[in-house]
Amino acid sequence: MKDRYDERRIGDRELAPESLMMSYGYRPSLSEGALKCPIFQTSTFVFNSAEEGKAFFEVAYGLREQEAGESLGLIYSRLNNPDLEILEDRLTLWDRAEAAAVFESGMAAIATTAFTFLRPGDVLLFSEPIYGGTQYLFREILPQFGIRTHAYRAGDGTAGMLQGVEEAKALGHLRMIHLETPANPTNHLVDIEAAVRLAREASTPERKVLVAVDNTFMGPLFQQPIALGADLVLYSLTKYVGGHSDVIAGACLGSAERIQAVKGSRTFFGSMAGPWTGWLLMRSLETLKLRMNAQAENAGILADWLLEHPHVERVYFPGHLREGDPDYDIFQRQCSSAGAMVSFDVRGGEEEAFQVLNALRLIKLAVSLGGTESLAQHPGTMTHSDIPPEDQRKMGITASMIRLSVGVENPDDLKADLNQALSVL
Ligand SMILES: *Cc1c(COP(=O)(O)O)cnc(C)c1O
Repeated sequence: MKDRYDERRIGDRELAPESLMMSYGYRPSLSEGALKCPIFQTSTFVFNSAEEGKAFFEVAYGLREQEAGESLGLIYSRLNNPDLEILEDRLTLWDRAEAAAVFESGMAAIATTAFTFLRPGDVLLFSEPIYGGTQYLFREILPQFGIRTHAYRAGDGTAGMLQGVEEAKALGHLRMIHLETPANPTNHLVDIEAAVRLAREASTPERKVLVAVDNTFMGPLFQQPIALGADLVLYSLTKYVGGHSDVIAGACLGSAERIQAVKGSRTFFGSMAGPWTGWLLMRSLETLKLRMNAQAENAGILADWLLEHPHVERVYFPGHLREGDPDYDIFQRQCSSAGAMVSFDVRGGEEEAFQVLNALRLIKLAVSLGGTESLAQHPGTMTHSDIPPEDQRKMGITASMIRLSVGVENPDDLKADLNQALSVL
């Protein structure tokens, strides 16, 4: 078997992830010489012998230790499939993770991970605002299984996080801190290293407090939580990684041991991605860096331009942080770009925000984000509408806020569209 580590190096030179996205982990000789990894649209795999089938199951079900160099044989597509395994290998390169598990949605990744590590009596602390689906899972579903959950506001910074940890510990065994940074849609930053420190302090030799980071907004290009000490990284691959608004998928990355546990639950929950999803994501990964860089550049241009617009009250964009702002220091340590999510308040309230949204032409009125096309939406009545308005205000979500996911279009065209839409006010 060709050594994976050879693939990653030329001499002493370690190849960059973008150089490996077209080939890493795939051997054409196993697929009739096809340059591209085919779609392995099959539910099951043929064993060469009964003995081989027995050996594959022994490893899959943990009936014996894996021998040196022995990998999990192909059995059945709920357990593994080449399109998933190769995708997982490629995903690990960006975050420098030991292992990855892919799922048919971001929510499947988050839910499967939560149910892998949390038990009745455990407490989960999370930062708010957080993705609406995650919020529902944490607030409404996990407590039905005896798992206590507690939130702190991202806008309250590290002091708020510290207080949150103390409050969480009073509820039971703190087991996991789940962060989303930048927070959606306010773009408040959460200090991953501070969470790692607090988790370490709250850990005991028998019980490690895990830090999980939903890296959907910045990752894997602009923020690498594992390098900052996080234990688990979660993705909605539907967003930047998929990047074309045509597929729903998710991932969890971490140490080999933890991902093996996550894959164990995935096998029995049946939440794995299918081969077609895996193939689409491998295609997307080839252009991930190009797309994210272009999107971030466009976002910076639009954010600066919005700041000067007379009908815009306020712009929320990490690229505008200045020395002295508590988030500035976090941004410097944690992010290599400001990303491509820009929120802004129009002058007025919900009515004025709706007028602008209804007037947009090139920018489409839709939730979701991270695709090649620019999208706009109203968090207060759309993505965050299940949060009562008074709580929204406490989190910094205003009635006049519009959230933009900036795509790869010509930035002058995007400006022209925003300008004509804002001119209706
Ligand atoms: C979209 C999203 C999710 C959920 O992902 P799905 O792929 O829609 O299941 C989770 N977290 C964040 C930050 C998201 O934006």
